[in-house]
This record gives sequence, C-alpha cells and structure tokens, in this order.
Amino acid sequence: MWKKWLMVGLLVVANGGAAEPRTLLVEVDGVPAREQRKGGRFDYSDYDRVGLLSLVRDRAMLLATRAEFAALQHAGFHPVLVLESSDPLALYKRGLYGPTLTLPAIYHTYDQIVARADELVKAHPARIARVQIGETTQYHRPIYAYRVSRDARQVQDRPGVLFDACHHSDEIMGAEIVFTLLQKLVLDYGRDPAVTAWVDRHEIYLVPVVNVDGHDIVTSGRDPRWRKNARDVNGDGVAGVFPEGVDVNRGYDFNWALGGSDQPDSDRYRGEHPFSEAENRAMRRLLELKTFVLSISYHSQGEVIYYPWSWNGQVAPDDALLREIAGEVAGRITTMDGHGTYAISPGGASSQSYVWLYGRKGDFDFIIETGKGTHLFAPEDVPGIIAANLAGAAALLNRARGPGLAVHVTDAVTGRPLAAEVWLPRIENNSVDRRGTEGTFGHYWRLLRPGHYELIISCPGYQTAVRHDVTVAAGDWTPLEVPLQPERPDALGK
Ligand SMILES: [Zn+2]
Repeated sequence: MWKKWLMVGLLVVANGGAAEPRTLLVEVDGVPAREQRKGGRFDYSDYDRVGLLSLVRDRAMLLATRAEFAALQHAGFHPVLVLESSDPLALYKRGLYGPTLTLPAIYHTYDQIVARADELVKAHPARIARVQIGETTQYHRPIYAYRVSRDARQVQDRPGVLFDACHHSDEIMGAEIVFTLLQKLVLDYGRDPAVTAWVDRHEIYLVPVVNVDGHDIVTSGRDPRWRKNARDVNGDGVAGVFPEGVDVNRGYDFNWALGGSDQPDSDRYRGEHPFSEAENRAMRRLLELKTFVLSISYHSQGEVIYYPWSWNGQVAPDDALLREIAGEVAGRITTMDGHGTYAISPGGASSQSYVWLYGRKGDFDFIIETGKGTHLFAPEDVPGIIAANLAGAAALLNRARGPGLAVHVTDAVTGRPLAAEVWLPRIENNSVDRRGTEGTFGHYWRLLRPGHYELIISCPGYQTAVRHDVTVAAGDWTPLEVPLQPERPDALGK
C-alpha cells in the first residue's frame, strides 16, 4: 500500500511519462503503529528496494522524490532529509549500512568466519571438521560446511541436523547466527550439558554462508542490497552490478518452474534450469554426504518461521508434526520488541531450499526470517537477535532426540547394512519422494508423533517387509530392526 501511496506521488510529478527519480534519502521517526500495519503507509511487508528501505521499530528510512517529501510533510510526518544524491547506490549505502557507509564491524566477512572456524578445526580436530561442498558460480570461491560431532574425524552413524544461512546475501544475520552457534557447539562441549548432549547424539552440519559471492558484495561494502549470487547473467564480463545474479533460493528442483521469476532483472530470478547455480549444487552435494532429520535455513526478515507447506490448498503429509516443531522453535525466539515470540506460517511449495529438503530428502526444514524491518540490522540490535535465535536452535536440537523411529535395515543373512526405501503409506503420499536408509550404516531416523504406524521396507534383490502396528513411544528414538531376506535366485526366474 505504501508503494501505491508513493505511486500517487509519482503520478503527480510525472512529466511526459518519465517519473522523477527518487534522489532523496529520508528518515521518518515516530511512525505510528497503524501506519506500519499491512496496508498502512509504512508497510514493510512488500519491501521492494524502491521506496521504503527499512522500518525498525518506529523509524523508517525511505527513498523519495521532492514531491513525496512534501507530501509526507503535508500528511503530518516530520521527514528528515538524510542525503540527496543522483547516485542510487550512494543512497542505498547510507540508508542500509548507516553513517559509516560500510558494513558495521560487528558483522563478519566470509574470510573472517573461515579463519576463525579453521582455528577451531586445528584446536579441536575431534570436535569439528571442515568439508568443502562446492565453489561459487562466479568467482569459484570455496563453499564450506562444518561438521560437529562426538568424533568429527569420521562420519558418524547418528541423526543429522543442519543449520545453513545466506542463500540471500543481504540477509546477513543468518551467517552471524550460524557462526555463533558453530563456536558455541565446539567451545561449550564438555562444559554445557545441553551442548554436550547435542554433539554426542547427533552429527551437526553448519553452512554459515551458502551464497559466498553475494555475501562478499554485501560485507565488503560494495552494495548492501545484494540478494542474489554474483552470476554475470548477461555475459558482458562485468559481474556484481545490480540487479544481476540468480536467486539461489529459487534454484532447487522441487516445483522449480513455479517459483521465482524467469526475468533476469527480478530479485527472484530462478536461473536457467534447476541447479544451474553452483551454490545449489553445493547444497545438493552436502545432502549426498548426509541426510538430515531437522534443519534450519536462516533468512531475514519478518520474525516468522515458514514450514513446508501450503500447496494448492494441500498441506504437507507431515503437517501436524511440522507445525508442532515450528511452534516449539518459534515459541523460544523472542521478537525484537521483547514482547512476543516468532510466528509460524506454512510457506509455498516451490523451488526453495526448505521444500526441496522436505519433499525430496525427507528433512524437516524450516526457514526462519530473523529480525524485523530490515535485512541489515544496526550493530546494537545484532547481539539480541543472535541470542534469541540461539534459543530457537536449542529447541530444534532438543527435538532431534525424538520421538520417532530409528529404522535399521540389514541383509538378514550377512548382517550387512542396506540402502532401503522406508515408506509410511498412511502418511506419505505422492507429493513427497520416498525416503529411506543410507547404505553405509543402514539407518533411517524418522520423526513421528507417539502412536502406531505401518511401514513398508523394500530394497532391490530382497523380499519386501511390511510392518503393521509399529509403536512409537514418547521420549527418545524407538529402535526398529528390519533384517531383509534376500530373494531366492530360483524365484527370480518366475
Ligand atoms: Zn531470504
């Protein structure tokens, strides 16, 4: 609506069809709550980088023409002119980075994150290992995942939990949250009983920055708006010029064509085909190394958790459980105003990481939109948002202990672990891929509410097993051993 209201201003000053450019950066303090609500003049929900740049508490930063500035005054606001410039980037830098025109030092560059993580790897090799999962599309920088476990030197037969951030590089708070969590998991192991239990029970992977090239554009002070990766889409040899790039959170092959935009200038440009971007392929590689029970992908902003999904009016097969877990996590994350906790909402079912992770990989993934009113928070707001979100991460890690089924499938003759499909036909329909055990250890951890379930376990070359009335107890994982009988060679000829 704010956009619409600004449009009215634009029409007034339009001259021969050419709109007057917004050359003023304007601050408005004391924006009343009714103007901040959906449909109000300062509604940030349809943030478009054209008008309203941020709205933190009751303070708005916006771009305006002279006529719009006058209209604000006329409407009884007290707009303050912060900067006038014909260079839009100068306005964005002042509006989003603040008076220093560069990223506040409380944030970390990717090099700083990697350097600190490397120190931890060196000092605590049993606790944390670095795994390169790929490299970036444009500048071929390494993309790292960090593995934290009881013995990080080798792959563990334990349920996986994943934390990733910065698919969208202007939403840099996520990198700070994951980076802080990474340090806490390593340094508080053996001191904090909760941390020790999480690390002992699980294999935890952390990807502080997925979109490393974009993150560098933001953290180096080049452009605070940068959301997409740095791909030189038009191939002119110059990368990192707004609005180039591909939205790497629209690049996954789950309803890919229904998500984002096919217009390269769009903030949500999905690229040429699913997994066209190396950042998405890095995440796919990670999912080849490990399957996850639970995960969080950090974004900004909105103080809301999106869970899979709302799809043509249909909910996800695990909707009740997804909602329950989203609610548990959200209920632990205090909002910036200190008066409430994050909301939850089903998200759309196209092309984003969380629907791919859930729909294709069976991982209960949640997008957490951290903070409210901007993508780049002022230094004084950063510690509070991190602390609040660590409480949410703790809730997720606590939930990764079950209840659910720990299905273990082996060859009944040799005892060898098998990669088998494990299907719960009363829950899982055709909207999700079949899940199953991985081949190395033969385990599949499947979060479930306590109750009774039916399972069909199949593997090529083995007789399919059907288990009726399997009971999942409250509390931790319920183990379920499934030895599969090899098909007799003479049966194959029939
Ligand atoms: Zn985002």
